[in-house]
Amino acid sequence: MSHQIKYQISEREMPKQWYNIAADLQNPPSAVIHPGTMQPVGPEDLAPLFPMEIIQQEVSMERFIDIPEPVRDVLRQWRPTPLHRARRLEKALDTPAKIFYKYEGVSPAGSHKPNTAVAQAFYNKNEGVKRLTTETGAGQWGSSLALAGAMFDLEVEVFMVKISFNQKPYRRAFMESFGAKCFASPSDMTEAGRAILAENPDSTGSLGMAISEAVERCVQRDDTKYALGSVLNHVLTHQTVIGLEAIDQMEMAGEYPDILIGCTGGGSNFAGLCFPFIGQMMRGGDEIDVIAVEPANCPTLTRGKYAYDFGDTAQMTPLVKMHTLGAGFVPPGFHAGGLRYHGMAPLVSQLVDEDIVRPVAYHQTETFAAGVAFGKAEGILPAPEANHAVKAAIVEALKAREEGKAKTILFNLSGHGNFDMAAYQEYASGNLKDEAMNDQEMAMALAGLPKVPEPVAAE
Ligand SMILES: *Cc1c(COP(=O)(O)O)cnc(C)c1O
Repeated sequence: MSHQIKYQISEREMPKQWYNIAADLQNPPSAVIHPGTMQPVGPEDLAPLFPMEIIQQEVSMERFIDIPEPVRDVLRQWRPTPLHRARRLEKALDTPAKIFYKYEGVSPAGSHKPNTAVAQAFYNKNEGVKRLTTETGAGQWGSSLALAGAMFDLEVEVFMVKISFNQKPYRRAFMESFGAKCFASPSDMTEAGRAILAENPDSTGSLGMAISEAVERCVQRDDTKYALGSVLNHVLTHQTVIGLEAIDQMEMAGEYPDILIGCTGGGSNFAGLCFPFIGQMMRGGDEIDVIAVEPANCPTLTRGKYAYDFGDTAQMTPLVKMHTLGAGFVPPGFHAGGLRYHGMAPLVSQLVDEDIVRPVAYHQTETFAAGVAFGKAEGILPAPEANHAVKAAIVEALKAREEGKAKTILFNLSGHGNFDMAAYQEYASGNLKDEAMNDQEMAMALAGLPKVPEPVAAE
């Protein structure tokens, strides 16, 4: 008998194209508005911030967009990411539901964010850019752009929301190891930062403030562009490798989801998993209950207004139509820093407005309880952001038990929590609190929304 073993190696590959949901929407996406002229922005308005290829993707109506080979070359290092069935969690919940999760924590940065960071670094390098500026909340995006910058030989400058900068020192060390520079925001390096500090020296920062700082640094130098880790159409498109792989993997498992779940900060990991499935649904495929999960303390989709607003605090960005709590709103501090944004991706907002996506909100402590239960069963401690998706998956699995229905649930486990042990420690010691929302502050921020004439459709 031969002592040689034949190994089976999967020949499944990562996708060659991204999926662009704009091609399948019933209503055209809303236009991006210039706050000075109140007219739709053109490519030349965005050129100081983004390379041309990305500007074109932002407004593309093509259903599929080729992924450049150098980008696939890097992504192949960890893609396709695994799709697991959470059998032990199913057992622990005693549910007839089948629970599947797509695990994005296997990327070098530990989340889905390198999927777009690598693509954005490539396009910038390709168009001669030397330096990228950006903001980061919990540090996941900064880490992802730092490593993408190292791979394509670009300088990277990161403005990190101050509360996370202090809570997560290892994220900064991670970014700096890849050669990036990381500053706590608000900083004294920009007009925007100095203005905020003058008004409130103890400001814990927000993504909106950090975006203002990064954009200001970007427009100061010709060789510099800006990179955004979520919200915009091109970012969501880059993330669709997640869902395209998942469609393929669910088919291998002989399953199709009844329920799809993703957590939403700016909307990119949610869109990444769900948009390719929603596309199938809109083209006549099976009905899916698609759930977007957000923190109760930053309830953009469940309590915000669907209106034109700025993406940042200093009102430097163009206006986009989205669910928003007001660009001036600073959510209370909580550990899922990646979900602490006043706005939401316009494409996700539109799908919520059209009742294709169902938003829900949960409090921090209940999401950590879900994350720990998941960890005990499956051996992975999720990122605090991803705990929101885990919580919703557990809620749906328990509902299926009550109804005696064998539902198939698929959720996105957008990242691991290995850099978030301080938060888990706080949870374990019983010190993690659910701060109350300041409803009055939210109402005031919403009252300050810019007045935009009639919503206009994009060209
Ligand atoms: C940044 C982040 C999020 C939130 O951002 P989205 O653009 O909404 O995906 C969620 N999960 C993890 C792990 C993150 O790092």
